[in-house]
Parts: sequence; C-alpha cells; structure tokens
Amino acid sequence: MEFQGFNLHPLVAAGVKAADYDTPTPIQAQAIPPVLEGRDVMGLAQTGTGKTAAFVLPILHRLMHGQRRQVRALVIAPTRELAEQIHESINSLGKQTRLRSVTVYGGVGIQPQVEKLKHGPEIVVACPGRLLDHISHGTIDLSRLEVLVLDEADHMFDMGFLPDIRRILKHLPGRRQTLLFSATMPQEIRHLVREVLKEPVTVQVDETAPAVTVSHALYPVSQHLKTPLLIELLQRTHTASVLVFTRTKQRSKRLAEQLGKKGYRVASLQGNLSQSRRQAAMNGFRDGTFQILVATDIAARGIDVTRVSHVVNYDVPGTTDAYIHRIGRTGRASRSGDAYTLVTNEDTDMVRAIERVLGKPIERRKVPDFDYNASALQVHTECGRLQRNTSPVRRPDGAKNTGRPWSNSSRTRPA
Ligand code: AMP
Repeated sequence: MEFQGFNLHPLVAAGVKAADYDTPTPIQAQAIPPVLEGRDVMGLAQTGTGKTAAFVLPILHRLMHGQRRQVRALVIAPTRELAEQIHESINSLGKQTRLRSVTVYGGVGIQPQVEKLKHGPEIVVACPGRLLDHISHGTIDLSRLEVLVLDEADHMFDMGFLPDIRRILKHLPGRRQTLLFSATMPQEIRHLVREVLKEPVTVQVDETAPAVTVSHALYPVSQHLKTPLLIELLQRTHTASVLVFTRTKQRSKRLAEQLGKKGYRVASLQGNLSQSRRQAAMNGFRDGTFQILVATDIAARGIDVTRVSHVVNYDVPGTTDAYIHRIGRTGRASRSGDAYTLVTNEDTDMVRAIERVLGKPIERRKVPDFDYNASALQVHTECGRLQRNTSPVRRPDGAKNTGRPWSNSSRTRPA
C-alpha cells in the first residue's frame, strides 16, 4: 500500500512527501480509506503508530473542497501538548493547502485565541475546558462543523473530561463525521462510542501490544539506589534522547535537579510548570537542547518526540496501559528504542501484569560492578544532599568516603 493509492488532493500529497513518509503505517492504511469515504471510525491505536496523520490527512483532503473561513473540523485532545502536536502536524502536512488551524486550551490568555478564531480557521484543535469557555462566551461558531475527532479518548476519560465532552457534543451539528481514537477501550469509552458514533468502522493496531521495535529490560534495584543506577546506565549507554518517568511531580523535579548536578542537559515536565516553561521544556527536548526529559505520566501525555531513543521508568507505572503509553514514545513509527524499568521488590505484581500484556517475560539485567549494597547514607552523600554533615562515611570496602563518586575507585568501568 502506497500513499498514492489514497488519491489525496495533490496539495495534501505534497505534505506527505515533504514529511518524508514513504509508506502508510498500519493504522493509516486501515483508517484513511473509511475516513475519506465519510464513515465514522473508531481507531484503537496508541501514540507512536502514526494515528495523527491517519485522521489529519483525510480531513485536509476533505477541507480542500467547500467553504473556507469557517470551522469545519474540530479535534479534541486531553492535553495542551497533544493539542500543539496535532496542530503542528496539521500545519506541516497541510503546509501547501492554506487551510488554517488554531489551538484552544487553558493556562494561557483567552484573548489571543478569540482573535485567531475571529479570522475563521477551518480547523480547531482544542482541550475540552477552554473549548467550553469559548462556546459559552459565543467566541467560536461550530454550526458548520463537518468532522469531529476525539483523540486519546481513554486519557480524556482518565482526566475526568467525559462530562465536558458530552456538554460540547450538545453544541455540535448532529450531521457530522465523528472519529474516535483511543489506545484502550474502558467501559466508559465503549458507552461513548455507542452514543456518538454512527455505524463506525473499527480499525485496530495491536490493542495492547506495544511497538515491536522496542526492547524491554528490567533493572531490579533498591529504592534508594535508583538515582545512582540511572546515572550509571546513562553513563554506560549510548542514549540520544531519554524520557524518564517518575510517579510524582516532586520526584520528577528532584530527579531532574540531581541529573542536572551531574552535568546532564535535563528538563523536568510536571503539572506545576507554567505553560511557557512546559513549552520550553518540550521544545528543548525536541530540538536536542535537553538530552533528558523527566516527566510524570500526566505531564508527558501525547508527547511526540520522534527520536526518543530510551524510555526509562524510574518508577514502575501504576497500570499496564500506562506502561504501553510510556514506551509508545520510543520505537515510534518503526524506529527502534529501548525501554528500561527500574524495579524494586514491591513492584513484583505490576511487573507480572506487564509481562502478561507483552506475552513474554522481560529480561532482568544487572549493571556489572554497580554497588547494589550501598547504604542510603552513602547515596545521599553522593547526591550532595548530606554533604555538609561532615562525619566521615565508611564505605562497605572499609575505605574512607572521599566525597568523590562512591563507586569509582572500587571498580573499573568497562570500556
Ligand atoms: P503519532 O502516532 O501520530 O503520534 O505519530 C508518531 C510519529 O510517526 C510522528 O512523529 C509522525 O511524524 C511519524 N509518522 C506518522 N506517519 C508516518 C509514516 N507513514 N511514515 C513515517 N513516519 C510517520
């Protein structure tokens, strides 16, 4: 299957060529034809499969004919980052089409959005809350809407957006095409599908299995040794760009600080940041200014960083779906990637559950010569937190703590 087979409008096909896409990904091969036919589509696909282009391309094709300067397509996404990424895909794939897309989300001033909406974009990419604000202020006209996309529907449900979505639906024309994409299908999303999609075509790529190009490894370690082990892994592995996941915002912030002190170019992405700082962190990671991005699941949702070479689960995710989502960010669209997970004894149940989803055991790895028996006190000293507490710390080998990295003198680093 080639992109030519879709007979996309030449100006849209030019966008595909400019993006350097050779062949459609499986979700694109399955979804583009029914979307072009005007059918409702339910796409079961995780991030990293090429699902954005699977709906963006046929929408651009459709909008090439018909009225301009009115909102004809609306994409609803759970996070600002995902909204920005979809908007960027529309802009790059639709560069030649002169169709305009506007993003609408909270955490930034509403007035610039109002101004942009006045200019009559054909496509709006929105997060639910701010979109409702515009609807209630009458600053968006959705009466000419032809296509609605609900992207990452399961995340919208996780984040409590389903009531907002239902409110928004009441303001949309009933005669429209609706596309819904979700990596998983919880009961609530099945209900939503039944409510809003008409005789949908279901397209599916690997409901639960992650991208095949990702290789997985577990690194068993004590909780207090996670940071030194991560640093050790970073030193020993050729890592182009690394996305590190932590369980909480505080852990994300602290880990980023610790890695920064070790000289890594690192940013943290967590909910407490202002929109401009989030954007700066994301852009810096994308353009290589930061080699490492430390994030929580919520903050990292929808991140499209095409060349993430490694995902490190500093903390095991809370669900198997979260694991799939996290590692969906490496090995994207057939590039290869590695997923490392640091696991403690308490994570055994979750590890088993993840292995069930993967359908095979994950390799356990030990970092050779790493001091798995170092005490918490040594680690704190190493991380610079107890540095002012001058009592000398004895190392397990009996040598006096020198203040230098505690692992260096007692072992040799492999070449
Ligand atoms: P998505 O799942 O939509 O977030 O896309 C994942 C990544 O794959 C994005 O960086 C896209 O630019 C890229 N991509 C999408 N479709 C293709 C394709 N047909 N060939 C190569 N890369 C693609």
